[in-house]
Amino acid sequence: MANPNPEIKYTKLFINNEYIDAVSGKTFPTMNPATGQKIIDVAEGDKADVDLAVEAAKKAFARGSPWREMDPWNRSKIMIKLADLIMRDQVYIANLETLDNGKPFSEAMMDVIYSVEVLKYYAGWCDKFSGDTVPAGSSLYSVTKKEPIGVVGQIIPWNYPLLMLAWKWGPALATGCTIVMKPAEQTPLTALYVASLAKEAGFAPGVINIIPGYGPTAGAAISHHPEIRKVAFTGSVEVGKIIMKAAAETNLKRVSLELGGKSPLVVCDDADVDEAVEIAHEALFSNHGQSCCAGSRTYVHEKIYDQFVKKAVEKAKARKVGNPFEKGVQQGPQIDDEMFTKVLGYIESGKKEGAKLECGGKRLGDVGFFIEPTVFSNVKDDMKIAKEEIFGPVQSIFKFNNLDEMIERANNTQYGLAAAIITKDLNRAVRFSNYVDAGSVWINCYDAVLPQVPFGGYKMSGFGRELGKAGLDNYLETKTVTMKLSNKNL
Ligand code: NAP
Ligand code: MG
Repeated sequence: MANPNPEIKYTKLFINNEYIDAVSGKTFPTMNPATGQKIIDVAEGDKADVDLAVEAAKKAFARGSPWREMDPWNRSKIMIKLADLIMRDQVYIANLETLDNGKPFSEAMMDVIYSVEVLKYYAGWCDKFSGDTVPAGSSLYSVTKKEPIGVVGQIIPWNYPLLMLAWKWGPALATGCTIVMKPAEQTPLTALYVASLAKEAGFAPGVINIIPGYGPTAGAAISHHPEIRKVAFTGSVEVGKIIMKAAAETNLKRVSLELGGKSPLVVCDDADVDEAVEIAHEALFSNHGQSCCAGSRTYVHEKIYDQFVKKAVEKAKARKVGNPFEKGVQQGPQIDDEMFTKVLGYIESGKKEGAKLECGGKRLGDVGFFIEPTVFSNVKDDMKIAKEEIFGPVQSIFKFNNLDEMIERANNTQYGLAAAIITKDLNRAVRFSNYVDAGSVWINCYDAVLPQVPFGGYKMSGFGRELGKAGLDNYLETKTVTMKLSNKNL
């Protein structure tokens, strides 16, 4: 099943249902993070290509076009067809994802399933969002309608390349928008392949366009484009700000941002320690720590602290790191040299600021970007590793002794993406969920992300929600239609 050499079929831009070279003729390499070697060159889109894609997307959205005039239940059918085609090619797509991103093949297989679930969930929404009849007195008749925003830009990161595509395509297609998407420079391959499946499923030319390329060029062309009505972004706070600024300086396009986090996971003194260690381990180490909602601040009650740390270290040491195509491997390489160096830098800073390095902390092997699963205990709130997003396999364990004070500490961050509490005490759990500043709160679990449950951030973790019914709002305008009624007899 796992195949480290999948045939790469598509490397060009996808515009108007055709694969074409960049206007400039330029290409860029996409790398295999497990080897540090180039996989293949991919067409490098830029402003001129984004302009072409927007033209195609505008045409596809124009009055009278097949997509604009399509009945919602037929839109739904095409979306389901696309989901089925992705599932048909699950193994191939997972191989491509593992090659380009470095995540274990078994996890890439799961990402394909999650993506299919999201697309099917949103396929069900095509004919289910509606407006209201508004009481407007006896001489007026007033209704609201929900309408697609139009051409939307979508800029996605490299940590879940296919899944982030599905989170963005699902609501955009369900509402009837047309798409210009830029995948991350590190991971363009699955998006380019899935575009071919969109064509096979029957999406009209121009409904979906993919422009691989770099953020400051292709990404900036999307965020500045005067004809793009909305941009949806997932990535860093820094780039989120650049995108908002671009929207403000151009056409005030709508913006939704899903940015980083520094999410607290609080383990109370009544928790089952083994279970809590397991939850906290997966919360941090899954996807190599490269997850926006990673449980990157593990707070443990002082009564069980030493026991918890000992078991957390055993668990981290047992994590199997290596070739992501190999069976049983749980952790592959970090995405690239830059992130690898950044994570190692955070580990050095943790050591320097006095956190206790319990295990890991070093590069693994001398090829690719592998880092040992790392655990720090004795982490203090004012350390750099406690405040900044590491985005790597580094667990930081803090001590607490009072839940009231704990909530203040949990909230003492610029982020607010997720939070979790592990306790048998319902009162504690609910009170924590009431007062913690986070878009998602998990009780006795972590990463319970479902297509029907909204996901997104408080504070600098962004705004707008993805998934669920709320995810549709990013792609809809509300139109009010009011008619004057005659007071003549019928
Ligand atoms: P990033 O720079 O924010 O990249 C995310 C996406 O934005 C990529 O497609 C990127 O293009 C694009 N981009 C970059 N500069 C842009 C610009 N000026 N205008 C428009 N688009 C632009 O994230 P990163 O550098 O890959 O990772 C840095 C940090 O971001 C990580 O350490 C982590 O803290 C955070 N991050 C968060 C998430 C999340 O899920 N919330 C995901 C990834 C990273 P390129 O392909 O050229 O980079
Ligand atoms: Mg790559």
